[in-house]
Amino acid sequence: MNLHEYQGKEILSSFGVRIQRGIVAHNPQEAVAAAKQLTAETGTQWHVIKAQIHAGGRGKGGGVKLAKNLQQVEEIAGQIIGMNLITPQTSAEGKKVHQVLIAEDVYYPGPSETSEFYVSVLLDRAKGKNMIMYSTEGGMDIEEVAENTPHLIFTEEIDPAVGIMPFQARRIAFNLGLDGNAFKEMTKFVTALYTAYVESDASLFEINPVLKTSDDKIMAVDAKVTIDDNALYRRPTYAEMRDLREENPIEVEAKAVGLNYVALDGNVGCMVNGAGLAMATMDLIKQAGGDPANFLDVGGTADAKRVETAFRIILKDPKVKAILVNIFGGIVRCDRVAQGIVDAYKNMGDEIKVPIIVRLQGTNAEIAKELIDNSGLAVHSAVQFQEAADKVKEVLS
Ligand code: GDP
Ligand code: MN
Repeated sequence: MNLHEYQGKEILSSFGVRIQRGIVAHNPQEAVAAAKQLTAETGTQWHVIKAQIHAGGRGKGGGVKLAKNLQQVEEIAGQIIGMNLITPQTSAEGKKVHQVLIAEDVYYPGPSETSEFYVSVLLDRAKGKNMIMYSTEGGMDIEEVAENTPHLIFTEEIDPAVGIMPFQARRIAFNLGLDGNAFKEMTKFVTALYTAYVESDASLFEINPVLKTSDDKIMAVDAKVTIDDNALYRRPTYAEMRDLREENPIEVEAKAVGLNYVALDGNVGCMVNGAGLAMATMDLIKQAGGDPANFLDVGGTADAKRVETAFRIILKDPKVKAILVNIFGGIVRCDRVAQGIVDAYKNMGDEIKVPIIVRLQGTNAEIAKELIDNSGLAVHSAVQFQEAADKVKEVLS
């Protein structure tokens, strides 16, 4: 589950990580009130208006702007709220902005120069360890840094059983070229950041930029946080932070009815039982010259009701030109699935306008094939994997 910047910062702050402070606003009036409150609490004269959407690169797309007085706060908030923000990380249509974060200006002048760093914590699955990735090249696209100047990206492996050791925090601060108070602040920052990552069951904390202010404080100016979905049951306060408006609406609906559905860009809808078979089926579709429109694991209980629900979900995607049903009948009997398909087809009538190819293998596969062939419906049945692929090719051409 991805979070908004303001939610990520809330979590960071609760673990003692210093953040650029801000208040969320949903309209220009709230923005002005928020700006006044921030000035009262922090003394900031200028404010940054930051669009809250689940995508980075907002600055480049015009979703992060500096306001030098309250009138500008009102104007800029009015422009950004409701806009369709297109960034290098959104689709071409962009994302609608429902709210902004009014933040204190932390790039104020002072005794030293400000500098921006990159720091993230993530899981290295191959090593079975957590990893802190960091760079002196903050504030820019980290993929670009990795491409052009990979030697400027450092990593620190953290053994999850031991946690972050003081010498590791010091090595990070040293490699970032810091000294004096900024050095001390950075060791505290990365230690608290690592604790926040572990204690919140996150799979990613990406802070870009981490700012060294002109008076040598270290703070998070941005926050990209992903919480592991499988841990949400024990993190109810984070589960409540989910913003469904930011997620694919078909995926949200599928989740609500307990289907394991991931939307993709292709033209062939898939209904499969078991994640492994689903992956193999997607490969098969590719081989046949199609592109999977989704990943869908209907699970072990593929009864008529579930099959119908799955059809309805798949058909919500207008890109779908054909549907391939590939079910292995182990515990679930093929004839029951076949009956489910026939019933669903009859119930949905002319809602199904695309060809359906069904491959049922396993328990009672022959009875199932007969059921489908004798149903009089426009459903193509296949027995072999290759046969199913050929039929997909045929209906797409
Ligand atoms: P992103 O573009 O989605 O990654 O959004 P960020 O939160 O990283 O903000 C983008 C850029 O806005 C930062 O890299 C900063 O250069 C700038 N910015 C953020 N906060 C401030 C601020 O308080 N003052 C000024 N002057 N610039 C800021
Ligand atoms: Mn950023």
